[in-house]
Amino acid sequence: MAKCRVCHEKAVVKLDYARLWLCEKHFVEFFEKRVAGTIERYDLLKEDEQVLVGVSGGKDSLSLFHVLRRLGYDVVAVHLDLGFSEFSRQSLDAVNQVARNPIVVSVHDVLGCSVAELAWKTHRKVCSVCGTVKRFFLNAAAVELGVRKVALGHNLDDLCAYAIKSFLTQDLTYISKLGPSTEPIDGLAAGRIRPLCEVSEKECFLYAFFTGLPFIKEECPYRPRKSLELELKKHLAFLEDSHPGLKLALFRKLVKNLHAYPRGEEPLTKCAYCGLISSRNICSFCSLTKKALGKPMGAEVRRLFRKA
Ligand code: SF4
Ligand code: ZN
Ligand code: ZN
Repeated sequence: MAKCRVCHEKAVVKLDYARLWLCEKHFVEFFEKRVAGTIERYDLLKEDEQVLVGVSGGKDSLSLFHVLRRLGYDVVAVHLDLGFSEFSRQSLDAVNQVARNPIVVSVHDVLGCSVAELAWKTHRKVCSVCGTVKRFFLNAAAVELGVRKVALGHNLDDLCAYAIKSFLTQDLTYISKLGPSTEPIDGLAAGRIRPLCEVSEKECFLYAFFTGLPFIKEECPYRPRKSLELELKKHLAFLEDSHPGLKLALFRKLVKNLHAYPRGEEPLTKCAYCGLISSRNICSFCSLTKKALGKPMGAEVRRLFRKA
């Protein structure tokens, strides 16, 4: 029987990259220390700093919310109801069980339609529209609530898969955005941080499971069954088995070399409609809602969070 490195009781987790066997309790401690170490290594948050987390109800965002709170940060939880019927109802249930007084915003209440309807109206993929909506709402929430940083739930597997995909498609500008943080710009954009960037998807799952977080097991009805990212994650998991530590080494090298990737030509500016950050005259959310609904809705979303 394998024993926990710390207490010598029965181990339940083997972490090859760290050459560690751990019991449930010491895995939870290990995970929290690793996230605290990541925050310190990349200077993501100051002690007691306020941070906003978009909690979807999935394992990554609930783990992120829980671990940041356990580490003593002042965490503001924002949940977006995307209007995906039963899936959205279960997601909100999970969030309400973990966060006290989350700020809950229904996309349907604000825009008069769900994220999926917005995608159909603009002939775009649901996930791509969903990404635009989530990014805009979370940034607007942070700016209006005066929270300087938004924490994203991307884990090590996500970031390695995004980086390899961007390399394969030669979208090198996107690689420059995959680091642990971006700086806030006063009144325009919250800084974005990734405290889970050095823990794997499996570790996030185990943390959520061992700490009893009620994350939703069901998948979003619009999640693509097949995608390059999912394929890459499978291949990376296979390689990690024979080369433990490969993903972490890749991510750390990537962070070191981020400056070498192109950052995009267009200077950042203010959206003419909502006044938030944009790389063009009109931000992608205002342009999306203008096309789908005949009216840019960015300013409306800002007003909503100002009231909150
Ligand atoms: Fe949005 Fe669902 Fe796609 Fe995730 S899988 S981006 S929640 S539509
Ligand atoms: Zn132990
Ligand atoms: Zn705008």
